[in-house]
Amino acid sequence: MKNLVIIGGSDAGISAALRAREYDPSIKPIIIESGNFPNFSICGLPYYISHEVTNWKNLAHRTKEEIEDKGIRLLLGHRATMIDTASKKVTVTDHHGQMIFLDYDKLVIGTGAISIKPAILGFDNPGVFLLRWVPDSIALDDFIDKRKPKNALIIGAGYIGMEMAEALVKRGLKITVVEFTESVMPTFDPDLGMMIKDTLAQNNISVYNNIAVESINPLDDKLIVRGTNNFEIVADMVFTSVGVTPNTSLDVLSGLEKGIKGAYKVNKKMEIGIPDIYAAGDCAETWHSLLKKYVYMPLGSIAHKQGRIAGENAAGGNREFAGSLGTQSVKVFDKVIARTGLNEKEAKDGIFDPVSADFETWDHKVYFPTARKLHIKVTADKMSGKIIGAQILGAYGKEVSKRIDIFATAIFHEMTIRNFNDYDLSYTPPLSSPWDPVQMAVQKLEKNPLLKK
Ligand SMILES: Cc1cc2nc3c(=O)[nH]c(=O)nc-3n(C[C@H](O)[C@H](O)[C@H](O)COP(=O)(O)OP(=O)(O)OC[C@H]3O[C@@H](n4cnc5c(N)ncnc54)[C@H](O)[C@@H]3O)c2cc1C
Repeated sequence: MKNLVIIGGSDAGISAALRAREYDPSIKPIIIESGNFPNFSICGLPYYISHEVTNWKNLAHRTKEEIEDKGIRLLLGHRATMIDTASKKVTVTDHHGQMIFLDYDKLVIGTGAISIKPAILGFDNPGVFLLRWVPDSIALDDFIDKRKPKNALIIGAGYIGMEMAEALVKRGLKITVVEFTESVMPTFDPDLGMMIKDTLAQNNISVYNNIAVESINPLDDKLIVRGTNNFEIVADMVFTSVGVTPNTSLDVLSGLEKGIKGAYKVNKKMEIGIPDIYAAGDCAETWHSLLKKYVYMPLGSIAHKQGRIAGENAAGGNREFAGSLGTQSVKVFDKVIARTGLNEKEAKDGIFDPVSADFETWDHKVYFPTARKLHIKVTADKMSGKIIGAQILGAYGKEVSKRIDIFATAIFHEMTIRNFNDYDLSYTPPLSSPWDPVQMAVQKLEKNPLLKK
């Protein structure tokens, strides 16, 4: 194979290039990247805004030189505009605005996603921010440094909204959050969302739920934001995070089929149905291994894995993406909230008859100092007894994310609640109990008479 061309130099594209090189060192992938910041940790941007990461350059997973040292050619400031699948050429506009054409034998598309700009009147006013790329975070940081805002309104209480609430509090701003749904972190059960809401209140953050923001208008050097239910607030700046949409605007000649939210339809080999073209990451659909169907799940953890599969297959391999469970953890001030698999509502909408247990206990033996409460919700399928979901909320530093990963591993291997108790998990009093809290939660669920024995 001669030419492996990759469009997009972020999580999916770089993973594809690295894996292709490992699989077949004779391949010298070319990455076309429209920006100038290849392989940056987008997930780390809120921690640059908070200044816990002091220099944005530290957010690079790898520098440009490190990527090139691995035998990967980077075309930065180059935008792919069209793929001619018949002649196998990509049309690219370079950093001088010149059009160039690149031949490919295999092509991986990793064009990612873009932040949704909500249909709010006056959304383009200065002082209104989105966050997706390094330049967005530099612009936001500059605004805080120069304009010294005292307060900010955050639109959207999803995980990025929560991370940014914490980041902006760390920069000394008073934060208000406005959210369309009835809770915060709406992908979690509302009772866990309420606990996060309490954490926000403890950090002097007011939250307004069930409100759709409708307009943002300048008022002297401030912004007046209005919404449904007579919502009105004056803010020094507005940060918006209401989701992303797949970036699939590339012109692909020969009628490419798009799927959920306009994402590329892929199979488990990450092929898009046109010979020799693969797609991975936020621009593509994701196979959900519990629901047994494709979903749109834009996460960096998934983009890395899909990119690796696409890269290996483009290099001549034959690997399949095993699927995703939507495993995710988020730090919100001193708390961490995490989930994997399905909650009861999702399971009912799917192919399961779910039953759950709510359980609260100490993260380690309470006689040892610093024990903190963990809230664990675990869901199983009544008929099969298989674990199908879990949510955990606990204090930062109390292994919440690694404990959710235990559930993720169990679900991946289709474990039942019975064999979950057979897991040989570690124990020492400062870190756990003879039965780890995740096993205690499952033991509570096992007692539920609704479960078929
Ligand atoms: C603030 C924030 C925090 C996040 N935190 C987490 C987290 O904690 N955990 C998690 O799992 N996920 C997190 N995510 C999501 C994660 O960042 C994305 O899922 C991941 O970046 C997707 O990688 P990707 O390579 O598919 O796409 P992207 O990162 O979107 O990259 C696509 C790349 O393609 C380039 N490109 C696009 N079109 C073209 C074109 N036509 N020609 C050339 N280049 C092009 C873009 O410039 C970009 O570099 C977070 C996202 C944000 C915004």
